[in-house]
Amino acid sequence: MSMPTDLIHHPYAPPAAFAAPQPGVFKASTVIFPNVAAMRNREWKDKSGYTYGLHGTPTTFILEERLCALEGGLQCLLVPSGLAAIANVALSLLVSGDEVLIPDNAYGPNKTLANGELKDWGITHRTYDPMDPADLAAKIGPRTRLVWLEAAGSVTLEFPDLVEMTRICRAKGVISALDNTWGAGLAFNAFDLGTVAEPLGVDISVHALTKYPSGGGDVLMGSVITRDAALHLKLKLTHMRLGLGVSANDTETVLRSLPSIALRYRAHDAAARTLASWCQGRDAFAQVLHPALADSPGHAHWAALCNRDGGTEPGRAAGLFSVIVDPRFDATRVDAFCDALRLFKLGYSWGGPMSLVVPYELGSMRSRWPAHLAHGTLIRFSVGLEAVHDLQADLAQAMVQALA
Ligand SMILES: *Cc1c(COP(=O)(O)O)cnc(C)c1O
Repeated sequence: MSMPTDLIHHPYAPPAAFAAPQPGVFKASTVIFPNVAAMRNREWKDKSGYTYGLHGTPTTFILEERLCALEGGLQCLLVPSGLAAIANVALSLLVSGDEVLIPDNAYGPNKTLANGELKDWGITHRTYDPMDPADLAAKIGPRTRLVWLEAAGSVTLEFPDLVEMTRICRAKGVISALDNTWGAGLAFNAFDLGTVAEPLGVDISVHALTKYPSGGGDVLMGSVITRDAALHLKLKLTHMRLGLGVSANDTETVLRSLPSIALRYRAHDAAARTLASWCQGRDAFAQVLHPALADSPGHAHWAALCNRDGGTEPGRAAGLFSVIVDPRFDATRVDAFCDALRLFKLGYSWGGPMSLVVPYELGSMRSRWPAHLAHGTLIRFSVGLEAVHDLQADLAQAMVQALA
């Protein structure tokens, strides 16, 4: 043969059993079959073989298995973002005439999807009070097919009674899906929330791998994890039909970060608690929201679930906290405070090494202002991995400039 054919079909194959700490990165759209019979018979649904890059490669299968180990699940789908994971669940389980229930403090784009495509397709949604299981129970009706859960809630970080809510969903026979990005599989086991006598858990765990599993602020990816094979297959068929593949390079990046996730999570957690406690002592802040703080909404539920050892260790939480600024400082002053920060950068997302800050107008995000939240503009801090005394000094200097 000749060039360039020799560059494409050259018979050299590397020796088998190359061993290294990190798995190899396999890239493919096309997967080659030895003959037509193998092509026709290859099974793609159960990981017994490879058919096409979109349906999985050795690299994506390894990440899926490791994420199952992290979260205590049995099956996993990888999707191009955390939001795609939410959409995969909704589009798989809901049809015209169905209703989905979403906590009022849910990740915003989950509600936006419900208000957009889902509504256009005749799927209705209602929000429920995340701090009131009775409200959830009352809103589950004959058309309810899916209940979203989030612990802690986005931005306001209330910790719900997750155990009671999964008990209600199970009793009513409705599928529960948890946005598990905050807990990351480290703060609690979403599939194992009950006791031996009363096993409880969520049916689906959705995780924005963009956050702690990536840890770098440089990858977008999501996962959908289950313990029920039939439910997984339903989600997987939708995943296949929508073509929700992920790139091998991004998968490799997450595989490289995953071994350090527990260390990073603890470091983010410890720094966030230090700063949240410091903020509690400033009278410019009417309220500090972090589930490990004794007076933060849902603290007892957090302690029961994420601090099961009862004080022998401090329990686990993500590196996020929010403050509600005393209303004597208007939104302009709050913006000036955020602008004055030097280490906390203005940007969405979290879970990376760099600390981030976002001011939020809560009034536009909730159906009503919850009684457990003070009035005022909210600031959400995502604490990175910088030295905590530098971050505290940054908050202090910005307060002197804008909130004094
Ligand atoms: C970031 C985030 C998502 C979405 O993840 P993307 O990868 O940014 O789409 C979903 N849920 C929660 C709670 C998040 O924080």
